[in-house]
Amino acid sequence: MNDILPEQTPVWQFLESTVKNVLATYGYSEIRMPVVEQTDLFKRSIGEVTDIVEKEMYTFEDRNGESLTLRPEGTASCVRAGEEHGLLFNQTQRLWYQGPMFRYEKPQKGRYRQFHQIGVETFGMASADIDAEVIMLSARLWKQLGILDAVTLQLNSLGSNEARAVFRADLVTYLEAHKDELDEDSRRRLESNPLRILDSKDAGTQALLDKAPVLNDYLDEDSKSHFAELCESLDAAGIKYEINPRLVRGLDYYCKTVFEWVTDKLGAQGTVCAGGRYDGLVQQLGGRATPGVGFAMGVERLILLLETLNVVPDALRQPFDVYLAAEHKGIQSRMVVLADQLRDAVPGLRIQLHCSGLKNIANKARQTGAAWVILVRQNEEGSLVSNLWYNSEPSYDVAESDIAALLQQQQA
Ligand code: ATP
Ligand code: MG
Repeated sequence: MNDILPEQTPVWQFLESTVKNVLATYGYSEIRMPVVEQTDLFKRSIGEVTDIVEKEMYTFEDRNGESLTLRPEGTASCVRAGEEHGLLFNQTQRLWYQGPMFRYEKPQKGRYRQFHQIGVETFGMASADIDAEVIMLSARLWKQLGILDAVTLQLNSLGSNEARAVFRADLVTYLEAHKDELDEDSRRRLESNPLRILDSKDAGTQALLDKAPVLNDYLDEDSKSHFAELCESLDAAGIKYEINPRLVRGLDYYCKTVFEWVTDKLGAQGTVCAGGRYDGLVQQLGGRATPGVGFAMGVERLILLLETLNVVPDALRQPFDVYLAAEHKGIQSRMVVLADQLRDAVPGLRIQLHCSGLKNIANKARQTGAAWVILVRQNEEGSLVSNLWYNSEPSYDVAESDIAALLQQQQA
């Protein structure tokens, strides 16, 4: 679990504000859920035999002996909240959330125990246009962030639950016959969660899968035409994708569309955003049948990518525009008032006042990197005058009453 330090937060803010702006242009509303839920919620939604539920959850008993879990992801909580407040049945919703998620994993680059997701969940829309919309809005986001060229879209259809069950049975039959060639994890999954074997990283298992039944051959007609429609929209929008027949996702609740945005710039932890359709989930959690489509992006991985590609504007890293300092003792109480008057006069201007310690002040002020450096002194008449540098261009002996005008002029 990491601290996010002041030198890092500008990148976070850049990402967060860009996401907010893009989501607003698609008409999405923010929802905020608690970070703790009843354990059962995640077991019933994510699935008992998934990695998350089997070994990654932070679960504890509260003082009342109730089993609670720090949320490992947002979709289950969002459905729980939507159901509890009557947001889901017989209506459409476009929601987004952000916040910390918790998984007990082996920490490494791009994988942490407290990490952050920004997620999008839509409800009540069964046709492929909304699948296309959520993918297109993610693509727009990468474009706005300046990372579109560094990510690729992988796409697959999981079909209906019924179609997948038939495929699953055939896959198990095939893999049972080659059980000795499977890696240990996959052998264990053969009983509990055979679809997950498809995204095993083991080379032997992958070689075995080359001759295994392929999910696409099992798709029902409805899922096939849904997928074709989605691809058509993405083609028309000029969004490139790669169909990956082995993309299954680690959570049990997906059907039809699944997708991942992947980068090759971050090593093994290359998936920066993942999602899909989950038409059965609301019902599975006790609500009335409501289709859903969503995704979650991994904020830390996106931050790593932004930093690797060095795309965050330098100006965003500088927390103030003006550095204001007194040149000598005795006027500091007037300085703090002057700073506030300047904030009134030039709204939005970010002013940092030098407080206490006046040694070597001219150099210190310049080293802050502020666009404006203002050094103030008292003249013989007792008025304040300043020397003001704007990007190293000096103006000398500016009267107190003229500082605001100069700042306004240069800001314009
Ligand atoms: P992975 O295969 O990398 O373990 P996942 O399938 O468990 O990912 P999801 O549950 O789909 O991931 O979460 C969506 C996104 O959240 C991931 O694509 C990733 O960017 C991010 N993410 C997931 N787990 C972590 C983690 N422990 N630390 C940082 N980011 C994470
Ligand atoms: Mg994982």
